[in-house]
Amino acid sequence: MELWINEIQTNNLHFSIRAKDILFAGNSQYQEIILADTDEFGYLLILDNVLQTCAFDEFIYHEMITHIPVFTHPNPKKVLIVGGGDGGTAREVLRHLDIEEIKMVEIDKLVIDVCKKYIPEHSSALINEPNEPRFILEICDGFKYLKETTNYYDIIIVDCSDPIGPGEGLFSKDFYKAIYKALKPDGLFVQQTESPFYYQKLIKRLYSDLEDIFPITRIFLASIPLYQGCLHSFTIGSKKYDPLDFENIFKRVPTDFKFKYYNKEIHQNAFSLPNFFKKILKE
Ligand code: SAM
Repeated sequence: MELWINEIQTNNLHFSIRAKDILFAGNSQYQEIILADTDEFGYLLILDNVLQTCAFDEFIYHEMITHIPVFTHPNPKKVLIVGGGDGGTAREVLRHLDIEEIKMVEIDKLVIDVCKKYIPEHSSALINEPNEPRFILEICDGFKYLKETTNYYDIIIVDCSDPIGPGEGLFSKDFYKAIYKALKPDGLFVQQTESPFYYQKLIKRLYSDLEDIFPITRIFLASIPLYQGCLHSFTIGSKKYDPLDFENIFKRVPTDFKFKYYNKEIHQNAFSLPNFFKKILKE
């Protein structure tokens, strides 16, 4: 019998991948969790029927959501990750040894337990947590945590799932206000903000919300084969530092840091937006 993973992208468009094996399938209090093994993508995490991350291209997403904001800040010491249950973002943030405190607030313990068990190379940061004094993992709602936090973080990385289920509130204007409050006076944040083809209304609304709140709002793009439309957007809200200040940012990129995707040209070009997308943001 063949096993197929079927992501319903629109009423008329489904994206199907044949699974060699289902390593885990179950429900937490928050969502349905599936971990599959596939030929094209390797292991594949699916939450509530939405493809989240896979062995084949996870490095693109995790390097882009981490290193662009971290190099943009001249001296980050405290970093918060909201979501990020597979551990890929924590793994990348921990590579920056000058960062003193990395906290991750993930709502769903089962996502963490499943990733630790079945994809240890991806979730190494979660497995090593007891031996890494810089890393603190808390199981809680990221929005609730931010409401109770003021003037503490240099960088907040929102590595959330889609704006449905537990991730819904993480795209609201109130959430962005809570992020602003939790950041230090020169802090910045980044969020994965979905496909510029399929989520235009959402991106337009959140971009305008962020422009009301932050002095600097920027969007960057990366091609990620797993995600809907294969082109993914990330949005930055910053109180002071501009991710387009390339001259200063690039002085901070260490020559001995090994990246699989990120480099200076990628950082610079990721902020070049196609005209159709610029138009959507301005309209
Ligand atoms: N790279 C992925 C993507 O864009 O598809 C996202 C990966 S990560 C698995 C997303 C995580 O956000 C999930 O583990 C989910 O449980 C978590 N999450 C969703 N809502 C949350 C909330 N309100 N607070 C904390 N974590 C949340």
